[in-house]
Amino acid sequence: MTVTAMMKPDLLKWLAERDPSRLQELYERADGVRREHVGDAVHLRGLIEISSHCVRQCMYCGLRQGNRALPRYRMTRDEILDCARHAERLGYGTVVMQAGEDNALTAKWIGDIVRWIKRETSLAVTLSLGERSQSDLKSWRAAGADRYLLRFETSDQDLFRTIHPNRVPDGPDRLTLLRQLKGLGYEAGGGVMVGIPGQSFDSLAQDILTFRELDLDMIGIGPYIAHAATPLGTGALRPAISAGEQVPSNEEMVYKMIALARIICQDANIPSTTALATINKVDGRKRGLRAGANVVMPNLTPVKYRRLYEIYPEKACIDESANDCNQCLRGQILSLGRFAGEGQGGRGAKETLASVLPDPSSRFVQLQAS
Ligand code: SAM
Ligand code: SF4
Repeated sequence: MTVTAMMKPDLLKWLAERDPSRLQELYERADGVRREHVGDAVHLRGLIEISSHCVRQCMYCGLRQGNRALPRYRMTRDEILDCARHAERLGYGTVVMQAGEDNALTAKWIGDIVRWIKRETSLAVTLSLGERSQSDLKSWRAAGADRYLLRFETSDQDLFRTIHPNRVPDGPDRLTLLRQLKGLGYEAGGGVMVGIPGQSFDSLAQDILTFRELDLDMIGIGPYIAHAATPLGTGALRPAISAGEQVPSNEEMVYKMIALARIICQDANIPSTTALATINKVDGRKRGLRAGANVVMPNLTPVKYRRLYEIYPEKACIDESANDCNQCLRGQILSLGRFAGEGQGGRGAKETLASVLPDPSSRFVQLQAS
């Protein structure tokens, strides 16, 4: 059987596997697929958490409207533009603007910022602003936004509705929105949390098949981390599940999911997430990169706002300045024998080390050599 022909029973078998040497085989296989299809470049996407206001009541997330104890912030236009300039200075190819579902982020306000970034910098722009109307999404695409991230969290629709109540009856579902985003010409990113209370192994296998079915350009996979100011985190909400079926929320499960996603969706961009680095602060990010990931998301949000974007507690790198984050991640990438990508790193871009090294005939190299 070829790896790409993996079917649900094979996925289930891998998801249940605990033998370290078998798992090492899986990670190495995924790493080989990663090398063959997207190369050794690790793309740096600068994350700007532009607003912590949110009108939603997701049962897992610390930004939910019901968390009244959390002071909220919204970055100014100039603060966001400063972060974008900084991203370019640091050599990143992309900025990701992420926020809660905040009604004050109007189509025009976001559109103007996207237009400015596209005009003044060479950055790709990724948006992650939640479930927005077709007309908002269309106008941002017309303004130049390249990509949109919207995790579907779990393919188990009953569980999803329980932990992610609709804003309006019959509101859009995220799978439909992802298809629409692709139709609008965005690179579309979906993804899931691993270890959500009520999440079964069967649904996790289905998540991977859904990545393939949606033909996602980006796939974000991170552990679910309990937040004490949420109904799921306190245990006030306990989705029913039969014994033995509950997926654990641990790093091994996340590495398995990253590896299987890479094997099934060979040329997708897959980050080694901050949530993974949060549950293993020593080398979680590096292990994700060794199990098939090829993207990291250094934080560019001004440090004064970081703690207020509290999706889950004890987030990794919360007090690191943007410059420190940049240096630390570049060091980790080099220690793996890989290199930081220099272009926008869209799906299918396969940078080689030679393509990012300075041209030997350039004046810069000649001056250095002299
Ligand atoms: N509001 C937008 C949305 O929901 O798509 C973007 C921001 S939201 C904070 C980004 C992602 O954070 C969610 O898609 C979810 O997967 C993740 N997240 C939220 N709460 C989490 C938790 N307790 N543990 C791990 N990840 C979480
Ligand atoms: Fe808001 Fe997104 Fe958090 Fe849900 S996951 S509460 S939409 S920020």
